Amino acid sequence: MTTMKIASHALLIGGEWVQPADGGSIPMIDPCSGEVFAHIAAGGARDIDRAVRAAQTALDGSWGRTPASERGRILQRWARLIEANLEELTLIEARDTGKPMNASRIDIQVTARYFDFYGGAADKLHGQVIPFLDGYTVNVLREPHGVTGHIIPWNYPAQQYGRTVAAALAAGNAAVIKPSEDACLSTLRLSELGLEAGVPGDALNVVTGLGEVAGAALSAHPGVNFLSFTGSPEVGTLVQASAARNHVPCTLELGGKSPQVVFADADLDRSVPVVVKAIVQHAGQTCSAGSRLLVQKEIYERFLGLVSEAFGKVRVGTPEMNLDCGPVMNATQRDRIRSFTQAAIDSGVPVLARGSFADGLPPQGFWVQPTLFGPVPREHSLACEEVFGPVLSAIPFEDEEDAIRLANATDYGLVGAVWTANGACQQRVSKRMRCGQVFINCYGAGGGVELPFGGVKKSGHGREKGFLALEHFTVTKTIVNYHG
Ligand code: NAD
Repeated sequence: MTTMKIASHALLIGGEWVQPADGGSIPMIDPCSGEVFAHIAAGGARDIDRAVRAAQTALDGSWGRTPASERGRILQRWARLIEANLEELTLIEARDTGKPMNASRIDIQVTARYFDFYGGAADKLHGQVIPFLDGYTVNVLREPHGVTGHIIPWNYPAQQYGRTVAAALAAGNAAVIKPSEDACLSTLRLSELGLEAGVPGDALNVVTGLGEVAGAALSAHPGVNFLSFTGSPEVGTLVQASAARNHVPCTLELGGKSPQVVFADADLDRSVPVVVKAIVQHAGQTCSAGSRLLVQKEIYERFLGLVSEAFGKVRVGTPEMNLDCGPVMNATQRDRIRSFTQAAIDSGVPVLARGSFADGLPPQGFWVQPTLFGPVPREHSLACEEVFGPVLSAIPFEDEEDAIRLANATDYGLVGAVWTANGACQQRVSKRMRCGQVFINCYGAGGGVELPFGGVKKSGHGREKGFLALEHFTVTKTIVNYHG
């Protein structure tokens, strides 16, 4: 599908493409065909150590001395380079993740926006002067943490890169990035463009490799001053334990089981396509997927009739076909999703609708049929656990109080939506939802570059995106000066 211009078999450390200290490579599998299409370098602990040391030198040298306004200019130049290479990056991302080309293109455009946004914000991140006792001046500086470690998942590799790396660099940190071994080619190419834009090589390091090897080494490295992790709650727990051992802060962006709450007075025609897209997008492999559809009982039958009709039209295909979604990431994902759906069918949960496959799909691809279930019993695993696939669970509710209870009834708390024409109900429900983002009569924000994002409970902690991320990627220092 695409010719990789980058040295995908090497690591990027200190501005050079280098071979991993222990040698070795990892095959990259095309999710559409199940075939190997590239190899990446299998970085390990020694490579991570080398990358962290390179990043440390950037703090006292090149990057540390670059004024904020110049950092911003470099990031915005980077954004222009991403746009100039839009089609190549789109192909890379689609090949790596299997998502439709149109969706992949949007991902790259959003990635460029992160570099624009944080480039523009770099010289607007101010400290404070605090009124204090007579004869004193107190300044609160906002400083970078130092070396930031970025552990990135496979579902939105380019966007994840943009949202954490652009913010960290804008704030003056030096980055060491460990992308997912399942999809990391856009990370390599984006980093190459970063060097071209003018980021000093020692401030931008990428070590590809297995999570339990390179990822574990990065999270445990004592030279890392802040960890940004996006991925599963299980691995997030390990990363947080490593951060605790080194006494460094971390941001965890974990999974979700996000509810869409539809009241009887909602605009049903408007909500139906949004509800379907929110679970089908990237084959449900979106942390903020709207995977629980909570519907007021008065309209449950009618609304589910409309959703079933739309859901039945969902089509799965290759990136070039540009249908509603592509394959899932790998065989593990496929088998996990199928075990969820099979268990639901075996336990008698009704299937209301299923999407279909385009003709002629490669048989070895990781294809999963989108499925709408309902009514799903409230305690069922399908109602509570993250499937991370194109599986929507519909559940009826009685009234507002019941809806709020149900919306908050999982271990997760990432995103939620309220569909109603009643303004007071919109406010009451959105305030009582335990999650990091609520949408009213809409869902998703096209990347949401400007909007603080993150979860509560098992969905993680800390915030990324928006200006707030810059606060997370910095630390304050209070300077008390007695001058009489
Ligand atoms: P994962 O946790 O398996 O992997 C995430 C990253 O962690 C990868 O780079 C992986 O190599 C690395 N890793 C694996 N083992 C490690 C270890 N022992 N130490 C350090 N790093 C390690 O998750 P995944 O399967 O890539 O992604 C899917 C999960 O991520 C889902 O649960 C999804 O909801 C979540 N997710 C959350 C968000 C969010 O913003 N909240 C965004 C995307 C994905």
